[in-house]
Amino acid sequence: MHELSVTQSLVDMVIEEAQKRNLKKVTKVTVVIGELTGLESESIKFYFDVLSENTVAEGAELVFKIVKAQFKCRQCGNIFERTNFTFNCPVCGATGVLVDKGKEFYMESIEVE
Ligand SMILES: [Zn+2]
Repeated sequence: MHELSVTQSLVDMVIEEAQKRNLKKVTKVTVVIGELTGLESESIKFYFDVLSENTVAEGAELVFKIVKAQFKCRQCGNIFERTNFTFNCPVCGATGVLVDKGKEFYMESIEVE
């Protein structure tokens, strides 16, 4: 998977943000990951610990917010999340189509000492 390169850019973002705000130490980083990116939060955590060594982000806690993929019903317009491996609308039973959600990956916020 591409967790390594993604985590590298995440660490870079944290360092850049810390420099901009003149921060000495980052304690917590909140990351938003879309379900459809296929990124493993555990792998990101692992790489983050390695890559952030000797930077302002060393030892920072990573918090993940997972964004679920969503579907829109073609029949009634209902927006829903996939359940039990079916793409059918829970309201009327028609097939839903994927809406543009679940592909995000970005740093939402950082916390400092
Ligand atoms: Zn429906």
